[in-house]
Amino acid sequence: MRRKIVAGNWKMHGSIAANRQLLLDVLAGLGDVSCDVVVCPPFPYLAQVAELLQSSRVMLGAQHVSEFAVGAYTGEVSAAMLAEFGCRYVLVGHSERRSLYGDDDARVAAKFRALVDSALIPVLCVGETLVQRERGETEAVVSRQLEAVLDQVGVDAFASGVVAYEPVWAIGTGLTATPEQAQRVHAAMRALLAERDAGLGAGMRILYGGSVKAQNAAELFGQPDIDGGLIGGASLQSTDFLAICRAAN
Ligand code: PEP
Repeated sequence: MRRKIVAGNWKMHGSIAANRQLLLDVLAGLGDVSCDVVVCPPFPYLAQVAELLQSSRVMLGAQHVSEFAVGAYTGEVSAAMLAEFGCRYVLVGHSERRSLYGDDDARVAAKFRALVDSALIPVLCVGETLVQRERGETEAVVSRQLEAVLDQVGVDAFASGVVAYEPVWAIGTGLTATPEQAQRVHAAMRALLAERDAGLGAGMRILYGGSVKAQNAAELFGQPDIDGGLIGGASLQSTDFLAICRAAN
């Protein structure tokens, strides 16, 4: 049985005061939530959020990591640094990093490896653009993105991560893949992983992301191959985030 996860990607939102209020509200409402819950604040707030989450069951995540361990990489943050601040999960390959910051498949694979080497859990984001979907290339695109990492890190390392299917056209747009559209892609990805290794396919947690809201979460998470969600905008409102977490129960 795969344990469901709901992870909030705060992107470049927040402030010391807003983070505190959001987390106090989330922690106060967690009573009937049974899935794993993760929040990924911007880097400067990791220490603040780690402290607020102390002795709670909400886990700390980060949005980004360097593929390098140490050195002259101005502005970058290493996996070991994230581990030292109590991070458990780290996003890699988010479409905003791929399109705005040039994170290609090879770099995403190197980041995945760096995280595994620091005993962190990579959340590998994959997904097609609207043009690619309209050309019928969805499965080819997500397969390429998965295989680029799988081929470089191997089955054992890959198995310690999590995958998030995030159609680029659904991120932050208000457009959501229908549960059937998402399930089809999740099932195809699971089949691809199972071809490499039956246990990898059966055990991999595959999240859906892209305009998940309180209103559509239960139907998405009710699909057999959807193991929770990566949530952007709706993770910034405690009532919405908690409702999405409950939908994963
Ligand atoms: C995301 O940033 O990963 C995301 C899914 O954003 P949103 O929920 O706002 O579409």
